[in-house]
Amino acid sequence: MHTDDALFARPASTFGAGDFWFTMKHLQPAARDTMDEKLILHCTDPEVIPADRAALIQALHGEGLMGEAFPFRGATHYHTGGNFLHLVTFLGCSPRVATRPADAAVTDTGFCHIEVSPILAEVAFLGGSNTKPPLCPRCRGRETQWRELLRTWSLEKQACGWTCAHCGPGAHPYRLNWREYGGFGRFYLAIWDIAEGTALPGERLLALLRAQTGCDWRFFYFAGKPFMQETSLA
Ligand SMILES: [Zn+2]
Repeated sequence: MHTDDALFARPASTFGAGDFWFTMKHLQPAARDTMDEKLILHCTDPEVIPADRAALIQALHGEGLMGEAFPFRGATHYHTGGNFLHLVTFLGCSPRVATRPADAAVTDTGFCHIEVSPILAEVAFLGGSNTKPPLCPRCRGRETQWRELLRTWSLEKQACGWTCAHCGPGAHPYRLNWREYGGFGRFYLAIWDIAEGTALPGERLLALLRAQTGCDWRFFYFAGKPFMQETSLA
């Protein structure tokens, strides 16, 4: 694989945090369980939040996406509900989906469970260590300076502009196509222990979320640590 070759060809001092996670995942399978992997769903309009978070949680229970609550790293998460496998589509011929921890002491990932985020005071970049260059919404050109763009955005927020190096002015960073590797929002659902590209939200789940918020939802895959935390941009 070319990417592996490129990693080996570089001196260790040039490795970034993203490379660390890449290396952990591909070269040290035993350590892979320590990496957080999530399917994150959020409103396409990053400013939109549910009018009633408790009602949304109740609807997700009612629909069978999630079941009983349990404490997880200081927050409240939810076990998968009876209809989970009908609402989330797992890809591959015979996916094995763990929905319960191996033992009662829940200390880390290794099974699917659900996080309902708090309502954040302002829009956050939700991507992880696996964030990749976003594309221009008009010409699909790659924005290679995306790390700098996120840094500028973290300071300027709504006022932050962006000019495409390929086709000219511009759009707000929210409008870029972050593909399946990133997104912005004030509220999200995270389905934990979903590896990149292995599952998708079903139409029924997306419809429920749309009905609860009046906005379309999208998804992406998170791996590693929050990008903004990792780069001290938050
Ligand atoms: Zn462009």
